[in-house]
Order: sequence, then C-alpha cells, then structure tokens
Amino acid sequence: MQQFDEHTTLITSEAPMAPETHGGRAKCLQRLVRLDLPVPEAVALSFKAVHGIAAGEMPDMDRILSPFGDAPLLCVRPSSEDPDWGGPGAVLNIGMNDDRYKELSEQMGEEAAATLYLRFVQSFAINVARLDPDMLDDVSDDPIEGLQEALDAYEEEAEEPFPQDPAVQLKAVLRSMARAWEGTTARLLRQAKGAPADAGLGLVVQDMIFGLGRGECGSGVMQLVNSETGVAKITGRYLSQSQGRDALTPGAESLYLEIDRRGPSLEELAPEAFSDLKAHTALMRHKLREEMQAEFTIHNGKVYLLDGVRVARTARAAVAIAVALAEDKIIPREEALMRVEPRALNELLHRQVDPEAPRDVLARGIAASPGAASGKIVFTANEAQAAESRGEPSILVRRETSPEDIRGMHAAAAILTERGGMTSHAAVIGRGIGLPCVVGASEVRFNTKKRHLTFPDGTVLRSGDVITVDGTNGEVLAGEAKMLETARDAALMTLMIWADEVRDIDVRANADTPADAKVARGFKAQGIGLCRTEHMFFEPERLTAMREMIFADSSEDRAAALEVILPMQRADFADLFRIMEGQPVCIRLFDPPLHEFLPTDRSGHRALAEALDLPLSDVTRRVEALGEYNPMLGMRGVRLGVTVPEIYEMQARAIFEATIEASRDGEPVVPEIMIPLVSARREVELVRARVEAIAAAVRSETGEDFTYRLGVMVETPRAALRADDIASQVSFLSFGTNDLTQMTYGLSRDDAGRFMSDYVRQGVYPEDPFHLLDTDGVGELLRLGAERGRRVKPEVTLSICGEHGGNPESIAFCREVGFDYVSCSPFRVPVARLAAAQLAI
Ligand code: PEP
Ligand code: MG
Repeated sequence: MQQFDEHTTLITSEAPMAPETHGGRAKCLQRLVRLDLPVPEAVALSFKAVHGIAAGEMPDMDRILSPFGDAPLLCVRPSSEDPDWGGPGAVLNIGMNDDRYKELSEQMGEEAAATLYLRFVQSFAINVARLDPDMLDDVSDDPIEGLQEALDAYEEEAEEPFPQDPAVQLKAVLRSMARAWEGTTARLLRQAKGAPADAGLGLVVQDMIFGLGRGECGSGVMQLVNSETGVAKITGRYLSQSQGRDALTPGAESLYLEIDRRGPSLEELAPEAFSDLKAHTALMRHKLREEMQAEFTIHNGKVYLLDGVRVARTARAAVAIAVALAEDKIIPREEALMRVEPRALNELLHRQVDPEAPRDVLARGIAASPGAASGKIVFTANEAQAAESRGEPSILVRRETSPEDIRGMHAAAAILTERGGMTSHAAVIGRGIGLPCVVGASEVRFNTKKRHLTFPDGTVLRSGDVITVDGTNGEVLAGEAKMLETARDAALMTLMIWADEVRDIDVRANADTPADAKVARGFKAQGIGLCRTEHMFFEPERLTAMREMIFADSSEDRAAALEVILPMQRADFADLFRIMEGQPVCIRLFDPPLHEFLPTDRSGHRALAEALDLPLSDVTRRVEALGEYNPMLGMRGVRLGVTVPEIYEMQARAIFEATIEASRDGEPVVPEIMIPLVSARREVELVRARVEAIAAAVRSETGEDFTYRLGVMVETPRAALRADDIASQVSFLSFGTNDLTQMTYGLSRDDAGRFMSDYVRQGVYPEDPFHLLDTDGVGELLRLGAERGRRVKPEVTLSICGEHGGNPESIAFCREVGFDYVSCSPFRVPVARLAAAQLAI
C-alpha cells in the first residue's frame, strides 16, 4: 500500500485528524471507526490538500486509490469544519464505466447496475463537467435505456466520450468540488452562516456501499429525537434500492423507521438492520456525547454508517437535548448549560399565533424565524426606529434586508421580505435576534416607493396598516391575531434551575405593571430592579390624571390631582408587592419627560381641555409654558421631585401604605425607593428628608412599623463621578445605562436612530451603544462609580437597570465590576440567567 501523509490520510483510529484540518465529517468518521462501528473504508484529504487541488496541484491518485482494491466504486463527500457551512454536494458511484457496468449487471442485475451508472453520468455531467442540465431532460425513466441516452448526450455535448478511467474520473470530481468551495457564491453563503473568510474544505473519498442490488438494500437517515421539540422519538426515513439522501427527497415513497401507524416501516421490513441501526445511533449519542443523526446504507441486510452529523435542532430542541444528555449523565450539567446559546432561548420565549384562533391568511412565504407579532407596516428601518421610540410595534417590510437594516430590525416587532430564503440576511439576522420573520413572500407585490403591498386576493395595505407576521408558519395575517404566550417546557425550567445553581450575579426584571411583574415572577426574576412608575399611567383613562398633575399650576389644583393618583398608586404597589411575594421591589419615583405626557397637537389640546374642563386657550398656553427645547434634559426625574415636592411625597405615601397593606397578608415587604436622574448630593438629601418625614407620618397615623431602602439611579455622568458623595446618603446605586449612554455620548436617545447606521457602517461606533454597552466609555463611568460608591460604603448594593442589563456581553461586564444584580425586561430574564451561569462556569 502507498504511503499516506498528513494531508491524504486513510481514516483509521490513529490517523492524525482534526475538524480544523480535515473537517467535521472526516473527524466524525474517525470517531465512528474508533467505536468499531461499520464504516466503509475512507481516505480524508485535508483543507490544505483540497486548497492545493483547487490551485491545480493534484495529489497522487494511486495513493488515494490504493486502499480501495481493484476497480473500486467510490463516493466523495465534503468535510467542512462546521457542517452548517455547507459545501459541494456529494458525488456517488465514481468508478462506474462500461466494464464495471457489465460486471455489476451480472452480479446485481442490469437495472440496478444501470441505475448506478446513470446516476454517476448525470451528476458528473452537471456538477463536474458543468454541461447544460437541459441535455439530460429527455433521458428515459427506464435506467437501461436512459443510461445509453445519457452517455450519448454526454458525448455530443462534451465532444468526447464519457471518461472511463476511475483515476481520471476521481481527479475531475476532486477538482470540481475543490473549486466549487472557492467560488464567490459559496463563500458568501457560508460567511452568512458565520464561517471565516478563509474557511477550509476537506474531502472524504469513501468506498461506495451501493444501496442497490439483491437482498435488502437501501439508504436513509436515523436520529433518536424529534428535531422540533427534542423529545425522544426515533425519526428518519428509509428508501429501499436507493443511495445517499434519496429517502429524504420530497415525494420519495420512503418508509418510517420505527413501526408507525401512518405507514410501513424499516422495523417491519428488516427488523435486525433496524435494531442494529438503533444501537449504533445510541452508541454514537453516548460516546460522541451528542444527539447524532446517522446517515446509513443497508446492503444485503447489513448496516453501514456513512456519516454522523449533529442533529439539526430548534432552540427548543437544543434545550431538551442538552438537558436529556445531562440527565443521562452523558455530559455534566455545566456542559449542558454551555451548549445552549442564551439568545436562542428567545425562540422558546416568543409569542406564537394561537392555533385555535381564526386566521385571515393574506400571503405565505418562508418561515424564517419563529414567533409571531402584530404591528403597523413600515417600509424603512428609520420608520421602525421611530415607531419603537413611540412605543408602537411595527412590522418592517423590505424587498430584502441588508446590514443597513439591522437597527430597524432590532426596533421592529417582525420582518417581512419579498425575496430571500432560509439563509438570506433577514432570515439569519431574524433568527439570531429572535425576531419573527417571514422571507421570500414573492406572491405579495411590494411597492416600497408608493408604500403599499398588494396581496394575492387583491387586498392593498399601506404604511400604518396592521398585519401579523407568523414566523413559525411563514404566514402573513390580516390585522392583529390572537396570540399564545410563550412555550415554557419542563426542559427549559430544568436548565434554568441548573443555571441558578451556578450563577453568581442576581437577575431582576424591569417591570412596571402587575402584568409585567407576573411574567417576571414566572421567569423567576429575583425581584423587580426597576418599576418606572410613570409607565403605570400610559393607559388612556389614567393619562388624564397624570396630565392633570403635571398641568396644575396652583397647589390646590395639584393637591386635587394627587388625591386621585394616590389610591391608584397604592393599589398598584400593593399588587406588585403581592405578586413578587417578598422579593425586592425597586420603585422609581416619577421620571416623566414632559413631552411624553403632554398633547402635541390641537386635537390633543382640545381633548385635554375637555377632560380638565378648561378653556382651550388655557390649555394651549400652559402646554406652551411647559414646553422644553430638550425635554430629555429638562424637568425630569428628581428635578420634578425637588421643585414640586408634593409629587414624590404622594408616591412615598402610596408606597408605605401599600407596604403595610401587603405585609399584613403576606411576607413582610421592604420596598426600595429609587430617585432618578440625580446629579448632586443635595438633591438626594432633599428627597431623602421628605421621604423620611412621610415614613414617620405614616407610621404614626397607622401605628404600624416598616422599613425601606432608599437608593439613587446613577444615570448622569456627574452622579457616577460623585458616587462616593451620593452613596453616603443611600443603600443602593442602580446604573441607568440608557440615560448614562445618552449623556456620556451627548447622543439623543430619541434621535440617534437617524444616523446610527451611518455611524456603525463607517466604524465610528463598533455597535449601537444603546444596544451593546460601551464598556470603554460608559463602562469606565460604571467602573468608577462602583469603586467610588464602594469606597465610602462597602455594603452599598450595585446594579444596572438600563436596557443593557439583559445583554450577555453587558452582563459579563457587570459581573466583572462586581455588581450585585442586573435588571432587564421580563422576557430577557431567562437569557440573562443562562448568560450569567455561563460566565460563572
Ligand atoms: C435608564 O436611563 O437607563 C433607565 C433605565 O431609565 P429610563 O430608560 O426610564 O430613562
Ligand atoms: Mg433613565
């Protein structure tokens, strides 16, 4: 036998082979060989060898062919580092020629031999010789006749006879596969799936097990779990007298594997082969420590394994598989935790259209990213961002998306595109960020200039009309569909419990309403880290009360308004305390940027005048008087508390009275009261003195005692710089990184969307700092604030409650700085819990 080297290697248990040099398939085959599983003989060509082939350096064919004996029949399959990166299709039956055809006709029957040869001629003509596929259109379905026609067509089109020498055939196959990998389209496709620009391709030349012939012959795939749910269930297909993945081609009359009510099965047809196959797949799972799909061929009743690949899986299945492997003691729990990408949990956590509800389907496309959302149609990323800043869910509709749309995709509730497939930009990004996405809805006419969509039934919808995108089923529905909340199954719960056992930073939720708090509690948030009390007044019937309070310009008017609000607040707080069952609840005193609460147009003024029973001119005048050039830096937060103290006094009273009420029938409540937008110690002293006075008053009025904790939200650069001075006054500091980012950059939260994509594209910012914490700049202030605060008060509780709190990278930063907890929106709590666990492992 010829000598092998590290680039052309016979796959044995000892051969040096790694996924980074020979690709995943070669490495996997070696593992299967080591497990003594029936793997046909194979030679692996390294990335370097294949790169050389593409450049014209052909390895010695005799060397490659030497292990396969005389007149072998071979196949060549791709072996990229990560199977998800794809690669050229396998070429089967290399070595078929006229002599072999005669020989095999005698051994296995002429029809089977003709099928093998015909398949090779077809795939060689199209994929290797790159002849026009039309030339084979008229080839007869009968393999014997078809073979002769295909050989003739080949000769005519290629102007030479079909190559007969196996070495020549193999050389051509290797060259074409190597070159296909280096082509621009293939490179772009794999880069979209995360492959590096210089990703290599290995090739595996393997002895061909025919899958055709006498006795039970065929091919198929088997896995032991359902790819959608991860639940244990033998899944796969088998087709007698077939090769490769024929059993999976749509329309193939393939069999179920296990006995199945719905049709005949391999288990009935060839019980021994079935049971061997099951045992092989289970051994792979056990020894390779992963749920594997076996690609197999049966020849005359005997099973051969051609490959094992990691079972394709949804996020839900990934969780179930990781948990089951750990429960079966195949992998440790820590590894199970590391195997699930925290962001992928979004898929389990997103809402779905209620399958029982009526569905008014307008169009269908490709279900590219699961979950569903309703919203107003917008046609540009900027509009999506504007809608987000108004708190309105939007559906971003594009012909196709590009990196310029990413910010809009983050802002939208769902994406709909006309073009693209499962690996298109919109699909890949949508799945990555857990955003419902339907792509390739080509039956819809997209008129982005005139800003309307025409659906197949003639319905025309325009910008601002509401639709529902169901990314799970690939459908576009009219209007707002009834939704089912998230699918939280037992495996997710188990994984979360394991995460909680290892993580060393707490996770709370930002929850403003009892409904939010219930979701937070369901996700096992360790308390509420931020309750934005002004958000409790976004409902129309409450908005008037809030407006009345802001609007009052005499103390009597204000007192009257506050009297209406006090019981609402007390009831809200008592609800939150009860729902959180003794977990900490951090209530932020009002921080209403005035422009969010005052009407902006004439009809709004008129409505307010009516509600307040005031002349329209009074309302208009007062709105003008309250108007600010830069409301985000105006009469917000503690500034309102300092200048109009009755407002915070009312809130403190509502909190204390609710504390007494909720403690009476449940765990004792220790509320946390947080002062927003502080920039000076004196602000804290003033508010603190008033809160203390209210506490004393409530204690004496009720005869009941309670405790509370006072804290400051560090969200101005000055508060971070003066954290020592401020910490001396309070028990906790919570970093509000939304405002802190805005003020550190001098970048308006509401306006940055307009130019953010330009900034990121030109590399001014590596990422949108409102999404990914800027650890260099804003992070420096966090670090400094934490150090200074701790210097004067080592026991001060430190946390983050800006949007960054749910972001895995930002959680890593907070943990490193020594924060006690992160607080994020309720649906991100599981993501944060898992991300925090991974950091501790
Ligand atoms: C913040 O500024 O980070 C914060 C959490 O507060 P808001 O977003 O309400 O300004
Ligand atoms: Mg803020």
